[in-house]
Amino acid sequence: NVNQELSELDKKHFLHPTSPIKQQQEHGPAFIFTKGDGVYLEDVNGNRVIDGMSSLWNVNIGHGRKELGQAAMEQMNELAFSSCFATFSNEPAIRLAAKLAEITPGDLSTTFFTSGGSESNDTAYKLARHYWILKGMPQKKKIISCEKSYHGVAMGATSATGLKPFRDFTNSLAPDFYYTEHLSAQALRETIEAEGPETIAAFIAEPVQGAGGVHIVSEDYFKEVRELCNHYNILLITDEVITGFGRTGKAFGMEHYGVTPDMMCLAKGITSGYAQLGGVVLSESIHKDFMERSNGTLLHGYTYSGHPMACAVALRNIEIIENENLVENARNMGEEMLKGFQWIQGERDLVGEVRGLGLMGAVEILSQGKEPLAPAIVNEAASRGLICRSVVFDNQDTLVFAPPLTINKQEVEQMIEILHDAIHAIEHNL
Ligand code: PLP
Repeated sequence: NVNQELSELDKKHFLHPTSPIKQQQEHGPAFIFTKGDGVYLEDVNGNRVIDGMSSLWNVNIGHGRKELGQAAMEQMNELAFSSCFATFSNEPAIRLAAKLAEITPGDLSTTFFTSGGSESNDTAYKLARHYWILKGMPQKKKIISCEKSYHGVAMGATSATGLKPFRDFTNSLAPDFYYTEHLSAQALRETIEAEGPETIAAFIAEPVQGAGGVHIVSEDYFKEVRELCNHYNILLITDEVITGFGRTGKAFGMEHYGVTPDMMCLAKGITSGYAQLGGVVLSESIHKDFMERSNGTLLHGYTYSGHPMACAVALRNIEIIENENLVENARNMGEEMLKGFQWIQGERDLVGEVRGLGLMGAVEILSQGKEPLAPAIVNEAASRGLICRSVVFDNQDTLVFAPPLTINKQEVEQMIEILHDAIHAIEHNL
């Protein structure tokens, strides 16, 4: 039995990222996936499940798209890798940088490439601090982020992450990171005043918090944040690792708020997970300042910055998002998904608030101060054919969803039905 053999090898040799260690050791992997097709994943036993999370909020164009395999293969066969350090470059990286300048909001114009979201975050913090060194203000080095935020697991990204359990996992963090209450521009003003604006390099926030439980800000929040950053001479960095490339029903999350950041962190949907890639896009004026003031070397770079194959995959992925109107589909199907959540809310006493923006959604479970129930609902839903995720940080008991942007109405209905039945089953067992 292949499943059993793989399961034993997995338990013994594979230390999983962000995993419940005890459960993993006892039971092994719940699914060993072998195939993907659209919104569906299939495992080694032939079980088909809806990938209601686009895996890790990233498989935006859905699974099994041969065009991306083709793009990767063509580039691999032509030029699999060459360096982008110093004055070396390659065509896919150049064309992708130009494409990002075209599709990102406002005057965002120039990209530094990474291999993922954590690296994008660490890069943004370092570039922000270097920017102030170049401007003759080296004391501006603090980074302010939001409570409940998630920015990744590199040392800087962990330090900026507002979800405390991620920071407590290790007992020494990077210095000069501070946190402010999420959703409140007034709280940010107070934090800036308390810390001293002359010591602050940047403020970073997700347009919609993802891992923290899909929290959506008020319409004015980012306008007020932008004004505060301008007023206090602080860079605004937005982390669009989840919200980029159509997830929220706009090409980029900040388009909902009409605000352009100084730097934007990207990853995930940039390749829909078909290759490892991320980036930080700088505004034209920040980039210009960098170029005019720097006469040394930009001493920051990853071996895989501007990886030709990953960039070729990203270009094809963006073309698919555009040609198939997936941003619009995310907006329309997001409305259907939210209506579905509202229907479940009416049917099931266990359901509290429901939220959504495009294809990012959340359903709160009313555990009434008792043990959270969302993890049991996640397991029940998985056994019935739907993958979703629970968020139990900060006394939350919430389910979150982010299906592929290719999802159709029937598939949304299937998702909603399974979710309803899973909640009903757990309710019944109480
Ligand atoms: N930023 C946000 C908002 C994320 O959701 C994530 C990952 O979930 C990251 C950064 C980290 O990205 P990666 O896991 O690619 O390093």
